[in-house]
Amino acid sequence: MDLVIRNATLPDGRQGIDIAIEDGRIAALGANLAVRGAQEIDAGGDLVTPPFVDAHFHMDATLSYGLPRVNQSGTLLEGIALWGELKPQLTQEALVERALHYCDWAVARGLLAVRTHVDVCDDRLLAVEALLHVKKQVAPWLDLQLVAFPQDGVLRSPKAFDNLKRAIAMGVDVVGGIPHFERTMADGAESVRLLCEFAAEKGLRVDMHCDESDDPLSRHIETLAYHAHRLGLHGRVAGSHLTSMHSMDNYYVSKLLPLIREAGVAAIANPLINITLQGRHDSYPKRRGMTRVPELLAAGVDVAFGHDCVMDPWYSLGSGDMLEVAHMGLHVAQMTGQEAMHACFMAVTQTPARILGLEGYGLEPGCHADLVVLDAGSTIEAIRLRAARRYVVRRGRIVSQAPPAHARLDLPGRPAQVDFRLRR
Ligand SMILES: [Zn+2]
Repeated sequence: MDLVIRNATLPDGRQGIDIAIEDGRIAALGANLAVRGAQEIDAGGDLVTPPFVDAHFHMDATLSYGLPRVNQSGTLLEGIALWGELKPQLTQEALVERALHYCDWAVARGLLAVRTHVDVCDDRLLAVEALLHVKKQVAPWLDLQLVAFPQDGVLRSPKAFDNLKRAIAMGVDVVGGIPHFERTMADGAESVRLLCEFAAEKGLRVDMHCDESDDPLSRHIETLAYHAHRLGLHGRVAGSHLTSMHSMDNYYVSKLLPLIREAGVAAIANPLINITLQGRHDSYPKRRGMTRVPELLAAGVDVAFGHDCVMDPWYSLGSGDMLEVAHMGLHVAQMTGQEAMHACFMAVTQTPARILGLEGYGLEPGCHADLVVLDAGSTIEAIRLRAARRYVVRRGRIVSQAPPAHARLDLPGRPAQVDFRLRR
């Protein structure tokens, strides 16, 4: 075997598991495997998980914070305006450099798959070219999936639909949209129809920025679910943000949730961004704005947490740490029960892997040997500690390592160390 990891705890709580890796795939997994590795890692009971997956990101904007100026109001709309000012100044070299730098951060944090929206409203399609180039370059370390995103509205911006089609022809993977940014509710609904029909015709997945507002009457998610169902796109469509659902009438939501479930539409909440950008027109009480995560999960809908932004016109913080994202999601949604906290970990690992349609993801024989050894004893503890990534493995190769933080106060007569680890 190329690599054997000993004594792992798995996300489902199984303990004392060895994982044998050969030719970039998991060859065997079980207790006390009688195999030898050219290289061996003693996990010492630490959690070993498939890698983190970010279902919603903007890699064309990342690390551009302060260019050409900072977002003074901190609002979504000033962020969009600011991005519009920056766009004509973008160069391909700078886009590639920033994206690669972010990928360094991502790999170090065990984030090995990212779905990134890329703005197609710049007629030059500079960002599309840059990110297609980056996607190819970083493939040995992480999977990038690109979404053709008409930031200024596919109907509102005259050339957006043509540009989107060109981006897809160039190799972009997923069809995006932003119905709540079109001029009217009717235009928003029309954009959803147009884009879903285009995706169905091309056999592509769909991921729309959908209802990213506090407007209780913004109902593009209903239209998205309707067309997904009508066109047979079950399991291939995601609604990103869905923040208006936070403010919707409860009776209406009771009718909406089963529709989303029947249409096989997934939900992607972005807790760091939703909690900072929504509720801005409120005085007090101030709405949280994040979509109804526990209720969507209870209805059987796949829910992932995305990072959305790191140091860009919309958000000045972030570091590519999906445990920070899960931590915020857990708090905002008040998901503090044991199963609910575990679900928050799944929302940054297995669920987004399913939404992206990643091949060979997971800890089963035959899967890609992509995994992370965390300095934690369980998924819940990983979130609590935003645990150090002791080892990050991609296709059987160690691509990043970090020592666990450790201190012990050397006091006379102090008893032996007590294990405060949380296990499932
Ligand atoms: Zn976004």
